[in-house]
Amino acid sequence: MHVTRQRPDTQAGPADNFTGTVWLDELAAPQPPSRLRMFSVHFAPGAHTAWHRHPHGQVLHVTEGEGLVQRRGGEAERIRAGDTVWIEPDEWHWHGAGPRTFMTHLAVVEAAADGTTTEWACHVAADTYPAGTGSAF
Ligand code: MN
Repeated sequence: MHVTRQRPDTQAGPADNFTGTVWLDELAAPQPPSRLRMFSVHFAPGAHTAWHRHPHGQVLHVTEGEGLVQRRGGEAERIRAGDTVWIEPDEWHWHGAGPRTFMTHLAVVEAAADGTTTEWACHVAADTYPAGTGSAF
């Protein structure tokens, strides 16, 4: 058993993978054989991820505020504090704050055998965020 009393330093979301101001707190990264990774992700208004997918899927649980999630081929959906989203393995998607609302969510992923948790693709197009239209990716 291991108790972490204080979060590690927060990490800025890299511009290659995020639009706008995003901070990530790594809450859990247990030793193998566990492949669990858990983050608390803080999005400023307008901030969101690029398109990406997770080899073993992802759970998002919104802890504060209100935002958006969209899967490829679907429409953007509003999510708010208390909502939980299951993203299927290899399902292309993005998530983030609303244009005028902060959002914080827990993000739980299971890494693949090679350690990969996320495959990143292009940024969300200007006509896709926040309207959820034009998801040609
Ligand atoms: Mn994701």
